[in-house]
Amino acid sequence: MLKNCVVFIFICIFSLPVAAKWFKNSFKVMGTQAHVEFWLDDNKTNTADTQQQVQQLIAIVQNEMRRIDEAMSPYKASSELSLINAQAGIKALQISPELFHLLQVSQKISKLSNGAFDITYASIGYQYDYRKKQRPSKNAIKKALPAIDYSAVKLDAKHSSVRFTHKNVKIDLGGIAKGYAVKRCLALLKAAGVKHALVNAGGDTGLLGDRHGRPWYVGIKHPRAENKMAVELPLINEAISTSGDYERYFIEDGVRYHHIINPQTGDSARKVVSVSIIGKDPTYVDALSTTIFVEGLVAGMKLIDSLPEFEAIIIDNQQTLHVSKGLQQQ
Ligand code: AMP
Ligand code: MG
Repeated sequence: MLKNCVVFIFICIFSLPVAAKWFKNSFKVMGTQAHVEFWLDDNKTNTADTQQQVQQLIAIVQNEMRRIDEAMSPYKASSELSLINAQAGIKALQISPELFHLLQVSQKISKLSNGAFDITYASIGYQYDYRKKQRPSKNAIKKALPAIDYSAVKLDAKHSSVRFTHKNVKIDLGGIAKGYAVKRCLALLKAAGVKHALVNAGGDTGLLGDRHGRPWYVGIKHPRAENKMAVELPLINEAISTSGDYERYFIEDGVRYHHIINPQTGDSARKVVSVSIIGKDPTYVDALSTTIFVEGLVAGMKLIDSLPEFEAIIIDNQQTLHVSKGLQQQ
């Protein structure tokens, strides 16, 4: 009887109009699932005005992600990225300030990591097709390796132009563009007056403020058990990105071929199975999760411990969880 009462009260509380102040939307973009969630400080909840505002905010987020996808997708022949790949090996190409900025950030992280993060990984990357279980031969990798070299990407800030010094260079922003998209969407929501929001694209999540008086809880997927979480973290006003070898992969003769490529070998990076980076800037957090995945536990943790603005959670090949120094102190 008491139990029924509790259930009844529970249902009543959660049917009060106040619960409707949270708004959520999920959609597909950039080859992944995106999600936005926000709180509106509005007494007119459920009125037509609020509904209109909600739809507008959701449209802002969807349009921004789609705009970035149109510009940066390697699969769209009309994207600015495809244009760069077609022409920058032949001549210097003037590009948008936005793409120029992302190429600059990419170069910075390549230098910081001695090339573990390298957008020219795509010079071989396009020969992998994880759905079709296709991978390049040893010979094809050997042939492509000279074109995997971030120093072959020359940026000219004065003319906002890019030039590849090797004709076979191809670039791909898959390791950084989703974090950048999350960052842009949060900025747009903030500019529209939103104070509590979560934006997620695949493994990249950005948070605006708290979850209205409580922290947000962001999960890190268990790398070998689908629909299970390895950890859940309470976070406020932070970004978190996870790179895992379970996202896009196939297994051949017991070897896992997945989407994060070691630029030195042209093969998948296999030192660890999952890397999450936490910090304020979603763009950097995204790029660093890919970087640390390639670097592995020892070099990766050393790099993160040298960067006070970022923390890491790394799951190694034995499925042991390691955390950076800043997280150990808490
Ligand atoms: P993420 O899921 O953020 O770790 O990004 C993985 C994506 O980054 C891949 O799907 C590729 O598009 C791209 N990528 C793979 N290897 C590298 C690398 N070594 N440096 C930069 N980007 C990479
Ligand atoms: Mg990443």
